[in-house]
Amino acid sequence: MRLHYDEETEAFRSELRSFFQAHLPPPEERTEPVRSSAHIPQWARDWQRLLFDSGWLVPGWPPELGGRNATPVQQMVYFEELVRLEVPRSCNPQGLSIITPSILDFGTEAQKQRYALATLRAEISWCLGMSEPNAGSDLAGLRTQAEQRGDTFVVNGQKVWTSGAHDADFCFCFVRTDPQAPKHAGISVLIVDMTTPGIETRPLPELTDPDNADFNEVFFTDVEVPAENLVGELHHGWSIAGGSLAHERGMLWIAEATGLERILERVLITATTPLPGGRRLADDVLFRDTVARAYVQAQAVKLLGYRGFAKVSKGDKAPEHSLLKLMGSELRRGLALEVGEAMGTAGLDVDRADAPANRRDDEAWFLHWLQSFSNTIAGGTSEIQRNIIAERILGLPRR
Ligand SMILES: Cc1cc2nc3c(=O)[nH]c(=O)nc-3n(C[C@H](O)[C@H](O)[C@H](O)COP(=O)(O)OP(=O)(O)OC[C@H]3O[C@@H](n4cnc5c(N)ncnc54)[C@H](O)[C@@H]3O)c2cc1C
Repeated sequence: MRLHYDEETEAFRSELRSFFQAHLPPPEERTEPVRSSAHIPQWARDWQRLLFDSGWLVPGWPPELGGRNATPVQQMVYFEELVRLEVPRSCNPQGLSIITPSILDFGTEAQKQRYALATLRAEISWCLGMSEPNAGSDLAGLRTQAEQRGDTFVVNGQKVWTSGAHDADFCFCFVRTDPQAPKHAGISVLIVDMTTPGIETRPLPELTDPDNADFNEVFFTDVEVPAENLVGELHHGWSIAGGSLAHERGMLWIAEATGLERILERVLITATTPLPGGRRLADDVLFRDTVARAYVQAQAVKLLGYRGFAKVSKGDKAPEHSLLKLMGSELRRGLALEVGEAMGTAGLDVDRADAPANRRDDEAWFLHWLQSFSNTIAGGTSEIQRNIIAERILGLPRR
């Protein structure tokens, strides 16, 4: 089977490619590194602003929100091109793709103007305050409390795994506003300015890069938040959580489906580049089998992703996102390990002196393997995806 697009869609792709060719800042202009998922260097701010002004930031949205009312198929093409060119659309993906849509869905007009538009224009960045030490998969178990005193909420508690919190301007923070209510009720969402007194962020060093933390613990001690920063209705935060997670899943379809192809390209580069001593993985029959199997699985994930995206874009529910997430993230993890093992000791050398400089990232399979665990946890762990598949796709009884 060969999937192809009609002429109009290919014209859309050409226009997008021409835009990227003309305007995407070359690597030598991207000198300031991206420290965390909420740190936006100046070159990235300028780039995102240009995307916004040109209607290429969120193509499916109207022009006033940085889009061009693109059709679902055009949006799919857009994401294919982003992945192919490895274009950074935003250096604060959670702000752009989870928090902004949530504010547009549930926020007041003033919040939309002040926060959603400023995020789209890369003027501010965000962190997402959901997880807590005893509330991850079971988000409804969150205990960070916000007590309303007049026109202020006073927040006390702790978040964890908060990506980019040490660089973010604001936190989209899930808090308990009615401790007496059942677990899923009594939750609200507050926009918290991260410079408010009483907030302490403690970066958590990561195995993959101990010098550049992205995760944080965030502690709130008597943090005063203006009541006007409440998003949606008081005690109705659970529906916002559902909406935010749906936006997170919305990001997943095409990224997961097309991202695997990019990884396979990297595998081929590694396979055809001689290892120290001259051995090439491409000459190893067993390794060729591994690549062929991964290719077939990646195609299955891609087609599943396209099918799910088509359903979602027609407004249908598509619980297959759990299949896609599970298969995609587990395939990445398994493949990284297989490539690393096939490379032998060269696979452990994350900074191989003999690897061409522009290929170091392609060769660092041990690091890719360590990083790959995060995909099997973020956005719902593999076990949670299996529960969803069992209950909602296979129709097995709930536990
Ligand atoms: C890269 C990355 C970025 C993240 N960024 C953020 C962020 O910015 N903001 C934020 O709020 N959070 C963030 N998180 C946290 C993430 O949402 C949680 O790690 C995730 O929800 C899992 O929660 P947990 O770590 O508390 O694990 P737990 O929920 O405690 O789970 C522990 C283990 O038990 C299993 N388990 C739990 N419940 C069940 C069940 N019902 N059935 C079967 N098995 C179960 C899990 O699969 C897991 O193996 C991020 C995580 C990662 C990896």
